[in-house]
Amino acid sequence: MPEEKKVARRPIQTSKDMGKFMADYYYELDNASKSGEKKIAWCTSVGPAEILRAMGYLVYFPETHAAMLGTTRMATDMIPDAVAVGYSPEVCSYMTADIGAFINNATPLSKAYEGIQSVPKPDILVYNTNQCRDVKDWFDYYADHFGVPNIGVNGHVGVNKITDAHIQDISTQMQALIEPLEKVAGIKFDIDKLKEVVGLSRECSDLWKEVLETAAAVPAPLTFFDGCTLMGPAVVGRGTQAANEIYKQLLAEMKERVIKKEGAVEDEKFRLYWDGMPVWGRLSNHFKLFAGLQANVLASTYCSSWIFTALDSSNPFESMARAYTELFIVRSDEYKEDYIKDKLDFYKIDGIIYHDAKTCPNNTNCRYGLSNRLAKETGIPCLTINGDLNDLRMLSDEQTNTNVEAFIEQLAENK
Ligand code: SF4
Repeated sequence: MPEEKKVARRPIQTSKDMGKFMADYYYELDNASKSGEKKIAWCTSVGPAEILRAMGYLVYFPETHAAMLGTTRMATDMIPDAVAVGYSPEVCSYMTADIGAFINNATPLSKAYEGIQSVPKPDILVYNTNQCRDVKDWFDYYADHFGVPNIGVNGHVGVNKITDAHIQDISTQMQALIEPLEKVAGIKFDIDKLKEVVGLSRECSDLWKEVLETAAAVPAPLTFFDGCTLMGPAVVGRGTQAANEIYKQLLAEMKERVIKKEGAVEDEKFRLYWDGMPVWGRLSNHFKLFAGLQANVLASTYCSSWIFTALDSSNPFESMARAYTELFIVRSDEYKEDYIKDKLDFYKIDGIIYHDAKTCPNNTNCRYGLSNRLAKETGIPCLTINGDLNDLRMLSDEQTNTNVEAFIEQLAENK
């Protein structure tokens, strides 16, 4: 790594309680895995977690574990072991890092939480391919290893306008999950419980949306790099009261910052939008890189992916079907361009950073001309960073630093 500038980071007070929230979440899973007292379902990050929670399952998200492998910089060393058992180094490095870690009997949970030695054992795995096919293949590996069912929803991709046919199809697929889930859980599905969980999940989504939208203030009270860790409860805890309480606290803190004009980046001069995955092993470095140039990367498509405004407790299946089909990642480029254009106005953006993540084409949006079309239409310049979410061999820090510095110089000339 090249030498970094010293940059002050304004601490977020709620982070401490959020850390406790995550610790409680993992200890509950670990206890259930050891005692067998509660059933555990593994779920994809934008999968039907509400159904699982409503049926009494504790829900574990391998993608969050894979992101931890990234932030702890363990991922790159684990990937070769997944490659050795037949997974290409070109496919999702969440999946290869996670499978590699499993083969090595290694987990960042052990370092973070005393007494936890492994990921919790699944009783069932539930995927949604709305984000990519990789999640199904990833879960197939574990279903085979643990001898448990892998069931799921096969979502639509490249969706422009969402039609009733999309919603009916996904809703029917979700309802078809109930029977196998009842069989494993040994309990009967209760629609009222699902309504309650969907209501809590919607509240979580609304609170998270409000948190992210505080970044429209000048200066912005938070950064994309903060958001990547602050979104933990929205991913693993949506549908629980505890997640909602933590976001109420975070929202109050962000609102207070806005009133006091306390920016997350000192003397914020440039406001940037990030499209694509974060580089998990470089969150802190990238914060310092941009903040050192008085640039705040303050909004992103990624952190907004856990906003599900369609969720409606009075119509749980259809509203879940809509919420999980409206996702940015499964939409057409036409939709994505309009979506990003709106964000550029709302957040008063000076420039866009596109992360071309080598192993995640699904969350990379600059490969088919979208970035140039948007720049031409809006006059807002952009920069593409080549890298990866987890595999640090796929990026050059020197090149990233040089390109970002040149980009900010260009923005300064434009101002
Ligand atoms: S969307 Fe990308 S990062 Fe997420 S699981 Fe799929 S391939 Fe991996």
